[in-house]
Amino acid sequence: MRTETDIAEPRYGLAKARAEEIWENQAQKKVPVILNDIVSALGANVSEADLEASGVTRMDKQGFCMILYKKGMSEVRQRFTVAHEIGHIALEHITFDGSSSQFSGKSQEKEADEFAGQLLIPAKDLRAFVKNKDKTIEDIVKRYRVSRPAAIIAIQKNRLLNKLSVN
Ligand SMILES: [Zn+2]
Repeated sequence: MRTETDIAEPRYGLAKARAEEIWENQAQKKVPVILNDIVSALGANVSEADLEASGVTRMDKQGFCMILYKKGMSEVRQRFTVAHEIGHIALEHITFDGSSSQFSGKSQEKEADEFAGQLLIPAKDLRAFVKNKDKTIEDIVKRYRVSRPAAIIAIQKNRLLNKLSVN
């Protein structure tokens, strides 16, 4: 079924603002971000499962959200997947008796990806971290426990390429 949200432009500003708010209030501004703290604060649960997709969120009739991620993924992929699913919950993409998988490929997927990137690599922390021009992409990967591509995207989005060390 086609809904209004399918054709709407992704709300990147909202996704970023929600990620920042959650990092500050539900994750105590920690890095690496402790995703389990956020999942608990949202009254949700997380578990691995045999899935085709990397992740999915289901809501039961009581409104309780269960985040499932695919078994056997690397830690960084698992973290990104869980952060993406938290995004679906935080951005209220999940409806009663619904599942996040119904939104695949739609603007809500882009919003959830934006949310995940911003949550795992908070812009405020990243800017402070690279300020002294002695940090490399590897330092960012280690600090935030993210993949190299995720670290590069965050650097580009925050226009910090010129701050990185080339060594
Ligand atoms: Zn999704």
